[in-house]
Amino acid sequence: MQMSTLGATGINVSPVGMGVLTIGKTQLKLSIEDGAEVIAHALLSGINFLDTAQYYETYPYIREALNIIETCFPDSSEEIIKNLVISSKSLCSDYDGMMEAIDACLEELGLEQIEIFLMHEVRGRYDYELRFGALNALIDAKKAGKVKTIGISTHHIDAVLKAAVDPNIDVIFPLINIHSLGIRIVDADSIDKFGTKEAMAAAIESAHKNSKGVFIMKAFGGGNIAKDYVEALDYVSYLNGVDSVMIGMGETSDVDEAIAYFEGRLPDDFMPNVAHKKIRIDQGDCEGCGSCLIRCPNKAIYINKDGKADVNYDVCITCGYCAPACPVRAIIMF
Ligand code: SF4
Ligand code: SF4
Repeated sequence: MQMSTLGATGINVSPVGMGVLTIGKTQLKLSIEDGAEVIAHALLSGINFLDTAQYYETYPYIREALNIIETCFPDSSEEIIKNLVISSKSLCSDYDGMMEAIDACLEELGLEQIEIFLMHEVRGRYDYELRFGALNALIDAKKAGKVKTIGISTHHIDAVLKAAVDPNIDVIFPLINIHSLGIRIVDADSIDKFGTKEAMAAAIESAHKNSKGVFIMKAFGGGNIAKDYVEALDYVSYLNGVDSVMIGMGETSDVDEAIAYFEGRLPDDFMPNVAHKKIRIDQGDCEGCGSCLIRCPNKAIYINKDGKADVNYDVCITCGYCAPACPVRAIIMF
């Protein structure tokens, strides 16, 4: 695969990265060993870019994958680990919380420096401003050499536009896909509403012109567009300003299919076996507390007539963010 450079960071990444959330306890719930095997397969196959987060609780999988590579593939391990780019992120909005998240990440991954650390899921330009404590922690962590580059992940067009002109920001991880699923914007009247792929694409292009590195998420709308695999990837990979496409991968076949696409070896009519993935709420377990409603970035959960949470599948993007918010683990994805 032809490598890309993330904006002006000098960091070289594969055109496709592996989203590690998929293997974790809120989605496929793989054992550490089984999940690590998928990551190791990705790294041995040419992917050098991993996306994780404090919230995902997937650091142990990455650490174990590196152990596997060092133990079983000693001849290639030095090169793979030297070229590895890990991006993590934290929802913490204050200084201390973000600094603790960075320190915990480094400790759990056994690293002295991580290439990318982000403010996780910034919900528009006002949220961006409210997280000034977290941003200051990222800036200080970068000065201290704990973090190489900093930025945001977001579903919001206005947050991308804000980050695009912030000199502190090196990289942006926005959501975009061919059907505009999950794209949001806080409009001029401060109303948080759905946005369009065209507006997000323009924001990405303007960020990239300002030398920001851009890697994108949810090319398949959280599984909802997966049946149009090639068309969905064609859309995001030909966008101006996109350096890499992050794809959630839970099986070695996911890795192989993505690499085949980015090497131009996948037939146009290819259809993967992931289109059935859905979030479900166990009505017997749900206590109707509402935590998942607050956590859902897409307003896809409502309380039904029985006082339990339910999912509106017309707007759910299968991002999986609601599952960890449930205190009784009533939310499952399969
Ligand atoms: S219901 Fe859950 S999976 Fe669906 S969009 Fe909301 S947070 Fe994401
Ligand atoms: S967080 Fe869990 S218990 Fe609370 S409303 Fe949602 S599904 Fe029900």
